[in-house]
Amino acid sequence: MKIGVLALQGDFDAHRRRLEELGAEAVLVKKPEELDVIDGLVIPGGESSTFLKLLGEDGIGKLKDFVRMKPTFGTCAGAILLASEVENPKQAGLGALDITVRRNAYGRQIDSSIREGRFLNEPIEMVFIRAPRIERVGEGVEVIASEGEDPVLVRQGKTLAATFHPELSDDSRVHRYFLKLVEDGKR
Ligand code: GLN
Repeated sequence: MKIGVLALQGDFDAHRRRLEELGAEAVLVKKPEELDVIDGLVIPGGESSTFLKLLGEDGIGKLKDFVRMKPTFGTCAGAILLASEVENPKQAGLGALDITVRRNAYGRQIDSSIREGRFLNEPIEMVFIRAPRIERVGEGVEVIASEGEDPVLVRQGKTLAATFHPELSDDSRVHRYFLKLVEDGKR
């Protein structure tokens, strides 16, 4: 399985390493045509507004086409990019997931923290860094993990988004879950 990691900015290398540990072939995606050869894509954390600037209209269009067709996993800024509605401030999204996210929603004091949440009903460590909050989950969106009352890992069809950073914990369950999505999509 060939998994691309969008490598324009931000936290892409930790994803690449995790995917390789799990036996996938990870390729860094810097140009739109590199999307043509991969079975799935990870959009890492970083700064979502910067991603949009670097992608430009053309890149956003190509990415939109890709996420409609193939499994995509966005973490933090990546989750913001995949959303249909973005607040604080309002920002364009790829509309792949019917959710509303609020950027930098946890305020200054707890803007970065490690907390325990639940993934498929099992406890799991979650690293939050200037995380967005998922404020609305549309019909057809499944909550896979939560922290307190908040949904923090959601899925709609082949699109997966986390407001935390599973690539920064030793636990590989979330990436394995994504690889399973990609595998199922290939069948
Ligand atoms: N605060 C960033 C944003 O709004 C996301 C932070 C992250 O990816 N760790 O895009």
